[in-house]
Amino acid sequence: MSLKFSVGDLTIHRIIEQETTFMPALEMLPELTGALLAENKPWMQKAGAIDDSDVLILCFQSYIVETPHHTILVDSCIGNDKPRPLRPKWNMKTDDSYMRALAAAGFSLNDIDFVMCTHLHVDHVGWNTRLEGGRWVPTFPNARYLFGKHEFDYWTEQNGKAPVPPFVDSVLPVVEANKAEIVRNDYAIGDHVRILPTPGHTPGHIAFTFGRGKDDAVMSGDLMHTPLQTYYPELSAKFDIDPAQAATTRRSFLERYCDTDTLCCTAHFPSPSAGKIRRRGNGFSCEAVAAG
Ligand SMILES: [Zn+2]
Repeated sequence: MSLKFSVGDLTIHRIIEQETTFMPALEMLPELTGALLAENKPWMQKAGAIDDSDVLILCFQSYIVETPHHTILVDSCIGNDKPRPLRPKWNMKTDDSYMRALAAAGFSLNDIDFVMCTHLHVDHVGWNTRLEGGRWVPTFPNARYLFGKHEFDYWTEQNGKAPVPPFVDSVLPVVEANKAEIVRNDYAIGDHVRILPTPGHTPGHIAFTFGRGKDDAVMSGDLMHTPLQTYYPELSAKFDIDPAQAATTRRSFLERYCDTDTLCCTAHFPSPSAGKIRRRGNGFSCEAVAAG
């Protein structure tokens, strides 16, 4: 399986940390009915998006985008050595899959110029930091880390009420190391990288669009988690902080890119995870394209 896409003057690499069963579909999508699931199970199974027991299969990955000027890592996955007691597959893990995937794609930690997070949930900030001599240090020593201001402010406030572990171990150490930039939604890097506000999953969730003057690719983060939500954009995930806003954002995002050439790189769809948005009935589908 190729993990690389070329669009416009960009090269995009998938850096996979895990691709695995995650949560029963009926639990993850509270509005999903058994009947609708049964109707859609055949194509979902064929797509590798659900297993025999109706558990959704998700991919956990970063994307690295090479523009003519920069090497940018989007969403830093799960990370190692982090206490995540509610998620056995993530808790205090020590495997080398992420580092091996990074090396296999031809990158060293020093190569990353920017790390950008669509939002600050636990599976999108993990490798922002790694444990070194008992301290959390930025994993990518040469990178500026970009955090959306609305999202950063929201989690600062939550963390003030009760500690939010991924914020404490994977975001604040980057700020303390003076590697963070808190950016507004009009922030851009040259003429290749822009922010698209996509609130709902979290209040400050953002997508990133890449391409000179046009969106050759978009990183959609967690505005959707499984291909079933492209068919039925009204199905919000139990993790969406504002489910109604998430559903509105999902439909308008899918409508925006429907029948365009933009490569939509999802955070969690099963491999190949990226595709082009096409209309399907009252909803949409994400159609795989040949990687190359
Ligand atoms: Zn996620």
